[in-house]
Amino acid sequence: MIYVDPHVHGRDGEEESDKETVEHLLQVARDSGVVAVFEMSNPKPPLTTEKAIRDRIELGRRANVREVFHGLYFGITADRVQVRDMVRVHRKYQPHVVGGKLFMGHSTNNLGVITEEEQFGVIEELTQQGYEGILTVHPEKESYMHPKVWNPSHPVSHCMARPPQAEVESVKDILRFVQATGFRGKLNIAHISVPESVELVVAAKHAGVDVACGVCPHHLIYDMGEMLSPTGILLKMNPPLRMPGDPDRMVEYLRTGAIDWMETDHAPHTYRQKTESGFLSGIPGLPWWDLYAEFLRTRNFTEDRIRAVTSEAVLQRFKLDVPLVDRPRTYRGNDYAFHPYEALERKLLRKAH
Ligand SMILES: [Zn+2]
Repeated sequence: MIYVDPHVHGRDGEEESDKETVEHLLQVARDSGVVAVFEMSNPKPPLTTEKAIRDRIELGRRANVREVFHGLYFGITADRVQVRDMVRVHRKYQPHVVGGKLFMGHSTNNLGVITEEEQFGVIEELTQQGYEGILTVHPEKESYMHPKVWNPSHPVSHCMARPPQAEVESVKDILRFVQATGFRGKLNIAHISVPESVELVVAAKHAGVDVACGVCPHHLIYDMGEMLSPTGILLKMNPPLRMPGDPDRMVEYLRTGAIDWMETDHAPHTYRQKTESGFLSGIPGLPWWDLYAEFLRTRNFTEDRIRAVTSEAVLQRFKLDVPLVDRPRTYRGNDYAFHPYEALERKLLRKAH
C-alpha cells in the first residue's frame, strides 16, 4: 500500500528544526510508504508571502528526496491585498503550491483569521479573483472556545476549552460564506473531528457545494478519556480528542464515504515542549501509515476503500499526478519524541501472530 498525506507540519528554521525539518520530513515519508506530503502554511516564517513560498520550495528541492512530492499551502491572512497576491502566487508555483489554508481560529504559530467579517472578506476576495483552486480550512470558532478552562494539571481540560461546538459552528460559518459568495474553488475541511460536522458537510454536498473533508487517525482511534492516562498530556492537539463514542462514528463515516480521506496532521514537538514548556499542541503521525491501514482492516474496510481514503481521493481532489511506487519500509517512529499509537500497534501485531 502507498499513501498520500495532505496535512503535515514541516517546521524547520532556526527556532523549530529541533522538532522537524523539511529534509527529515521527506525522508520519513519516503521510508514510511508516503509518496506525497502537503505542508501546512504555518512554519516560521509563515507561507504568506511569495518569498517564503519560494524559499520553502527551494528547501524541499535541496533535500533531494526525489521519491516524495513536496506540496505546500499558501497561508491566508485577513489582508485582502495579501489574499489577492496569493492567488497570483498559487498560479505561478504550480504544482508545488497545492492550495490555500485558512485558520478560522488560532492554533500553533498564530495565523488565525478570526472574525466572521474577515473570514467572509477572504472568501469574497478569492471569489472575485476567480480562484478555482483548493481552500483548506481549520474550523474552530474562537467565540466558542473557553481558554480559561485549560489547566495543564488536568490535560483533559483542553478538550473542554476547545469544545465540539467550536468546530461545528465554524463549519456552519464557512459553508455559509462559500454559498453566499458563489465561491468557485474547492473547499476542504481539515481534520474534521465531530460527527455533527460531518453531517453538515454531507448535507452541503447534497446541496451542491463543492466540499470534502479529511479525518486524522487520532480522532478515529482515541476519545478524550485517553487524556486521563499518566501520559495524557502528550495527546494535546487542535482540534482536541472528542467524546466517547465519537471515534467509532467517525470510522463509520470514513468507511461509508461521508468522510473523504485520512490526513495525519503530523505536528511534532520535543518531549519537553509537550510536557513542561508550553504544553504545545500537536503529535507526530507520518511514520505510522501502515498501522492506520491495518487499523482500518480491523474495522471492515475493503482494500479498495483503504486505497481510496489513504491516497486516491486526495490525488483526485487535488488533480495531482505522482508515481505510485511502493518501496521497502524503514521504521522511523523512533525519530520522534513519542509514539502515540504504541498500544494499538502491540495489539494489532499480537493479532497478526
Ligand atoms: Zn495541522
